[in-house]
Amino acid sequence: MKRTLYWVTKDLRIADNLALQLASQSNELICVYVIDKKWFKPNKFHSKPLGDKRWHFLQASLNDFNNSLLALGQQLYVVYGDTLTSLESLCEQFKVTDLIVTKVPGTDENRLLTQLRSLNSQVKISQVDQFTLFPENELPFEIDNLPASYSKFRKVMSTINVSPPIPAVKSLPCMFQSSPSVTLYELESPPASIIGKPKQGNNFKGGEQQGLKHLKQYFASENPGIYKEVRNNLEGWENSTKLSPWINYGCLSVRQVMQHIKRYEQTVESNKSTESLYLELLWRDYFQWVHFKVGAKMYQFKGLVESAPLTSFYPERFKKWCLGNTPYPLVNACMNELRHTGYLSNRGRQIVASCLINELSVDWRFGAAWFEEQLIDYDAAVNWGNWQYIAGVGVDPRGGRHFNIKKQTNIYDLNGEYQTQWLDPDIQASHLVQVLDSVDAADWPVSSVTHTKNSI
Ligand SMILES: Cc1cc2nc3c(=O)[nH]c(=O)nc-3n(C[C@H](O)[C@H](O)[C@H](O)COP(=O)(O)OP(=O)(O)OC[C@H]3O[C@@H](n4cnc5c(N)ncnc54)[C@H](O)[C@@H]3O)c2cc1C
Repeated sequence: MKRTLYWVTKDLRIADNLALQLASQSNELICVYVIDKKWFKPNKFHSKPLGDKRWHFLQASLNDFNNSLLALGQQLYVVYGDTLTSLESLCEQFKVTDLIVTKVPGTDENRLLTQLRSLNSQVKISQVDQFTLFPENELPFEIDNLPASYSKFRKVMSTINVSPPIPAVKSLPCMFQSSPSVTLYELESPPASIIGKPKQGNNFKGGEQQGLKHLKQYFASENPGIYKEVRNNLEGWENSTKLSPWINYGCLSVRQVMQHIKRYEQTVESNKSTESLYLELLWRDYFQWVHFKVGAKMYQFKGLVESAPLTSFYPERFKKWCLGNTPYPLVNACMNELRHTGYLSNRGRQIVASCLINELSVDWRFGAAWFEEQLIDYDAAVNWGNWQYIAGVGVDPRGGRHFNIKKQTNIYDLNGEYQTQWLDPDIQASHLVQVLDSVDAADWPVSSVTHTKNSI
């Protein structure tokens, strides 16, 4: 008798879901998503692990997944609490024999599984490898021997094909005979935003159905054929795929995206742009494997290279950066877009990250944590991996990136249109943005560094 608890995490979809397929082979099943209380509390970097825009996206994704499960005679139990305690008590209460979860590289997730294993040793835990284009057993090397740079990784992977997605499950086992005493958590509206209403541009609607719709629309357009030329533009919904939020919550799998790239290449055209799309997905894979390999080093100041950058923590500078009040208008425009919409182009992310590290001399981890709170598409490995890369403590063989803000402005916003869209002229003209340090850093109140109104 197999009584399975499917711990749903970054796999909020029915199609191409190997974990759900495995769960479908049980006698009885319960599908559980845990919203951890910790996600809403500021961490040591003064940011929350889950900000209101991603929370909004997550709620829609949970509702959509629940609707799909209901159509298959199942239901999603959404529990709000401490993840370990919730899972442990559910396993005990319902005499769970098997726990299934998608394998992800986060250190918290893996520490939790280790603790769960020791607390519930009779439960068989299966981690399903489906978060990347290639599962670990298809890699032509052991994780410990992961190539030291992306270009080497890319070379090694060039001869391996991505497997096609698997079909959606058609039926699921019944729910546990005795229903759990936990009830479906009433999904609340996200907390009122501390920075006002989104100005524009937030087109991301959570859930598998919305993700599939967007995937089809993007590949039905001519945009994949010109991706390489336009992806670096600072604005423009169609200039990159905008698939990242759905990919990172698993509303879409990367293999589904890959299937669309291949189909586009076969039916429309295959060129440098379509190759580039694949290479970006491969970058994402690379960061996931780096994270699997290095674990907690992904979050450490000295990073993978174990060498401390020449930066520190300056609360006023950090706050000015978060709120778009630095002496650099392009950076301010980017930070405003991020704060108002939960999204920023790849080029924008590179410019603001470089500014925080190189111009403001602030510890890169504060920036990574602010991104974690703000981004709708936050992914641990990709976010912290990219930040390390720019800070020169990660997988960049060139040892960090310093973007010349003036040059970037001339290339990507020569006419100032992007800045006009995202800057408040009154704030730009004020003393606030012209001076980097208004007081001695030692006198600056560290408390509530970021969670206050846009005025200091
Ligand atoms: C400092 C910094 C932090 C970042 N944090 C995140 C993050 O938390 N989550 C996230 O998904 N991306 C992150 N990125 C990578 C990149 O900016 C986003 O993936 C991209 O902008 C998302 O938009 P898109 O889906 O339109 O991307 P596209 O350009 O259409 O790319 C397609 C897909 O390829 C992957 N991809 C693209 N660029 C990168 C990259 N540089 N590294 C790894 N994978 C990539 C993503 O899965 C993306 O959805 C970060 C980049 C930087 C410089």
